[in-house]
Amino acid sequence: MLIDAHIHLEQYNDEEIPLLLEEVDAVIAVSMQLSSCERTLRLSNSYQQVKAAFGFHPEQPLLSPSDEAALFDWIRTYQDEMVAIGEVGLPYYLRQEQAMDDRPYVALLERFVVLAKELDKPIVLHAVYEDASVVCDLLEKHQMSQAHFHWFKGDEAVVKRMIERGYFISITPDCLYEEEIQQLIHAYPIERMMVETDGPWTFEGPFTNKRTSPWMMHSTLEVIASIKGLSIQEAAKIITQNTKAFYRL
Ligand SMILES: [Zn+2]
Repeated sequence: MLIDAHIHLEQYNDEEIPLLLEEVDAVIAVSMQLSSCERTLRLSNSYQQVKAAFGFHPEQPLLSPSDEAALFDWIRTYQDEMVAIGEVGLPYYLRQEQAMDDRPYVALLERFVVLAKELDKPIVLHAVYEDASVVCDLLEKHQMSQAHFHWFKGDEAVVKRMIERGYFISITPDCLYEEEIQQLIHAYPIERMMVETDGPWTFEGPFTNKRTSPWMMHSTLEVIASIKGLSIQEAAKIITQNTKAFYRL
């Protein structure tokens, strides 16, 4: 049994969730904004395997100052119910669609880094390609070491920097058909690796037209084991231990 280190569980319907949870030991259920945090909290109260993370997804318009303050207050109130701050980060894909000023997003992310540090919780990061170095700067500035870059993609220089800092990454099912992700698995130490689905986000290749669910992580694990020259059992053991230790499960 595996742990899904990053899933948007609150986006699945009530009938799907118990079935999906039969496939895993635990899930790290991340949140998008306040109403999403509230549903994630309810799910973590209903199902023991659901470990909640509270945050604000960066690929959306920013909140008003009062709504942002309400979100931060809410997170502080429920801090004992969460294993991490997340999902937070920078709006890489939004920026490909429209010209935008990044600075307010960086400032918001910095407030989340400070909050995670203050509450002594790990942080779940959406930060790919050139955004990853901006995020590394922020983490270093605040001496925040408990960082998980989910579905990470980036160049060799930032990969090297993240390995030196001991940051974690997680691998998605697209490693079956994306050479870029296979190269990342090759470069990154398995001791700093987790597996995830980012469900209900959908995948291609053998997963075309399939509802994303944690069983897909078994295929991910086969790819990791083969690239790292390990048995599937060995790779599964290391990755599960990594996830348990990182999220203190
Ligand atoms: Zn996500």
